[in-house]
Amino acid sequence: MDFNSENKLFDYVRGFTMDFDLKQGQSSGKTTTKRFLSQMKGMFADEEAYRKILEEKGDQLVYEFHELGVPEDAGKLSFGVSICYPGKVGDEYYMTKGHFHCILDTAEIYYCFSGHGYMLLESPEGDWSALELLPGKALYVPQRYAHRSINVDPVEPLRTFFVYGADSGHDYGTIETKGYRKLLVDDGTCTPKIIDNPKWK
Ligand code: MN
Repeated sequence: MDFNSENKLFDYVRGFTMDFDLKQGQSSGKTTTKRFLSQMKGMFADEEAYRKILEEKGDQLVYEFHELGVPEDAGKLSFGVSICYPGKVGDEYYMTKGHFHCILDTAEIYYCFSGHGYMLLESPEGDWSALELLPGKALYVPQRYAHRSINVDPVEPLRTFFVYGADSGHDYGTIETKGYRKLLVDDGTCTPKIIDNPKWK
């Protein structure tokens, strides 16, 4: 039990605890925001494959994550779990949209606790890397880099816990418009491979 606490969830003044299930990543304190395939139009390179999945299989849950609604003050931290499901659109693995932070000079931490994936990092100047995520690995997203998680496992969801400055803000628009310079694809041998994004602007 806690001492000298009102046990109030989201008590940003005096502190609080919150549960996240170690297996599923869900929390009793807050449901997740869900991103379906239909919300990711134009984000995958193979538009024909994208259209076909929606037509033949219907809308699919691609990823979900916690938005706690932490007040966006400098000094506060926001956190939660991100779950990216297994799947592919053409050769391209299911992934999150990816974003820059509006305050570009802000970093973020991810901790992977299940699955197998990559974090694709890209700076506005075009420097990039793809860092492998496996259970037990913490990942440091540096200031200025866009970040997107990608699930390369055919079965297991990729689950990460993240923490970032609550005032960082999310810029999804740049990636939605320009895309990433690089894509992570399955080369047919179930080995992830980096290729140039044919649609990059
Ligand atoms: Mn971020």
